[in-house]
Amino acid sequence: MERQPRQPTTKNPPERFTGDVWLDMIASPREPGQHLLAAMVRFAPGARTAWHSHALGQTLHITQGVAWVQGRGGDKIVATAGETLYCPSGEEHWHGAAPDAFMEHLAMSDCLDDVAASTTWLEHVTDEEYRS
Ligand code: MN
Repeated sequence: MERQPRQPTTKNPPERFTGDVWLDMIASPREPGQHLLAAMVRFAPGARTAWHSHALGQTLHITQGVAWVQGRGGDKIVATAGETLYCPSGEEHWHGAAPDAFMEHLAMSDCLDDVAASTTWLEHVTDEEYRS
């Protein structure tokens, strides 16, 4: 058993996020055959990801605040602390905070051997899409 050094909190890039979003990496592959990626992500009110998809799906566990989540063509889902959402492999979606509340979630996914190829980033979520 090894205690892991705490990684610095990083701010997510504006090319892929609207508003202020901070990330604390928790787990990434260390040994052959491992694919777990886990991060705690904090969104300021109104902040959200761009549209994107995960090659091997993603589980989101809301730990604080009010989350707004939507799959392409689907209804917006409002979720609060303690709820868990699953996004299937390849489904285009976004996730973020409600306009009037912070949101924190634990994001968990399996990555490909090429970690960078595990998430496909698309266009930003417009204010119209966010509010609809
Ligand atoms: Mn996602």
